[in-house]
Amino acid sequence: MQFENSRLFAQQLDTKDPLAKYRNEFIFPQINNKNAIYFTGNSLGLQPKLAQSYVNEIMNDWGNLAVEGHFRAKKPWWDYHERFANQLSKVVGAKPTEITVMNTLTVNLHLMMVSFYRPTTKRYKIICEEKAFPSDQYMIASQVRFHGLNPEDAIVELKKRDGEHNFRTEDILAKIEEVGEECALILIGGVNYYTGQVFNMKTITEAGHKIGAFVGWDLAHAAGNIKLALHDWNVDFAAWCSYKYMNSGPGNVSGCFVNEKYHNKKDIPRFEGWWGHNKDRRFLMEPEFQPEDGANAWQISNAPVLALAPYLASLQMFDEVGMDALIEKRNKIVAYLEFILHEIDKEVESSFEIITPSNQEERGTQLSVFLHGEGKELFNYLMENGVIPDWREPNVIRLAPAPFYCSYEDMYEFGQILKRGILEK
Ligand SMILES: *Cc1c(COP(=O)(O)O)cnc(C)c1O
Repeated sequence: MQFENSRLFAQQLDTKDPLAKYRNEFIFPQINNKNAIYFTGNSLGLQPKLAQSYVNEIMNDWGNLAVEGHFRAKKPWWDYHERFANQLSKVVGAKPTEITVMNTLTVNLHLMMVSFYRPTTKRYKIICEEKAFPSDQYMIASQVRFHGLNPEDAIVELKKRDGEHNFRTEDILAKIEEVGEECALILIGGVNYYTGQVFNMKTITEAGHKIGAFVGWDLAHAAGNIKLALHDWNVDFAAWCSYKYMNSGPGNVSGCFVNEKYHNKKDIPRFEGWWGHNKDRRFLMEPEFQPEDGANAWQISNAPVLALAPYLASLQMFDEVGMDALIEKRNKIVAYLEFILHEIDKEVESSFEIITPSNQEERGTQLSVFLHGEGKELFNYLMENGVIPDWREPNVIRLAPAPFYCSYEDMYEFGQILKRGILEK
């Protein structure tokens, strides 16, 4: 499609956008009495208007029913988490029984490692990506030390080639083969948080299985952003947070995938609690643990329903729209943003460098941009003028135009503000 850097053209794209009406279903921060141009849906998604009523429902049930709300609320609390399975399984490409929602992301990855990182003297290494999200680095190193091993020896980092911004699949596969039967686990972020690169999860999972390792994915930047097929890719486990692209609210509950191969298996170690116990017998307070069917066996505590409520509201909208429609708009709005950046780059004779892959198959919603010669003052200018981007020192901005609520006109307007910010410096 031939794009134009004009307001009229952007408005025409908005008129033809089948998702345009959803913009009005979200609450935007106001800057200078206008909706912010919000580029940080990859960090904290906007609040769906529907969320408040879902939370109020629980507050009202708590007030009116107190403890009886566990069973008599309109959406009873005792199995509230089970309402997610059908809709969420469509977002990540799983069977409903392979999905559960609980805890928060890093906690769930730790719990998954209890089940899927079981080092032996021969097979004990973990392959992860270099400069992984800090929480993942801390998590993996602490797990390794917990097993009495040395992170220097047990953690193998995938590297980018000198001077390149992204990982090459061929290099990843070569490293997997090299580590071979010493590899216990491969655990990588499915979408790199810094560059927005999408990993070839199917191919890497296959390669991991070929050397006899478990393969898990941190889908923090992938869930609700890219097309996932966790079941068909034969992924062993995955976890994601819900507050980024999934718009569930700050610090909110994490989703977890456990492949059905591991359901109802006696020999799989797991940290257990009463919410993972057979639901029909949960309140009999029996001494012996009887796992629930499916991923719900990994549940531990009774469900934090006040936190789950806005997630459920958001998920309802995902279900209504579907990932295919979201991805169709995503591809177009990201391509338009990319076009705008290149146009502005020419006009100001600056030099932007987009470090996110240009191939649509290898990227999602996020474009990470190196602003050579620009500094924090440009970021401040953007913030004062109605744009909320994400800044990483020394000079990278991450721009994620979430297809649910960003408009094409936002992209045009952003380009104009960016240009003024650079010229007025
Ligand atoms: C956002 C993010 C996290 C955050 O973890 P929490 O436990 O939810 O705080 C972890 N890993 C990655 C890759 C992330 O992008």
